[in-house]
Amino acid sequence: MYPKRIAKKRPTKPQSPMCPYCGAVAIVDDGNKVYQTTAHGPMWICANYPDCDAYVGAHPDGKPLGTLANAELRRLRQQVHKAFNPIWKDGALSRGEAYGWLAAAMGLNRQTAHIGQFDVEQCKQALEICQEKNANP
Ligand SMILES: [Zn+2]
Repeated sequence: MYPKRIAKKRPTKPQSPMCPYCGAVAIVDDGNKVYQTTAHGPMWICANYPDCDAYVGAHPDGKPLGTLANAELRRLRQQVHKAFNPIWKDGALSRGEAYGWLAAAMGLNRQTAHIGQFDVEQCKQALEICQEKNANP
């Protein structure tokens, strides 16, 4: 008997994100742990949850939407989304253009300028920039 050929290519699995607060590796979950429902779709939760209250949503393919966030950061990111969305939903800019504008205003690379990647300081900065823009379109 010949040994079976071992496939070299492993199925691509999304890399587990790390928890920036406690350093644990996040585990993928169907949402039940945090929301008691799977309606929100998959998410990444810190392995130490609920002792460490950090998680982030995921795309249907399991790719995380951003970095893991604790309650304070989640609240801030929601505020940034609320201030940022009218800029491209009601304004003259497309979503991509609005992200480009925000990235430039924050001195960030367009590729890294995603609200889901922002830390607390960046959220506060983005919030200020977007609120200013909404007040003076
Ligand atoms: Zn953690």
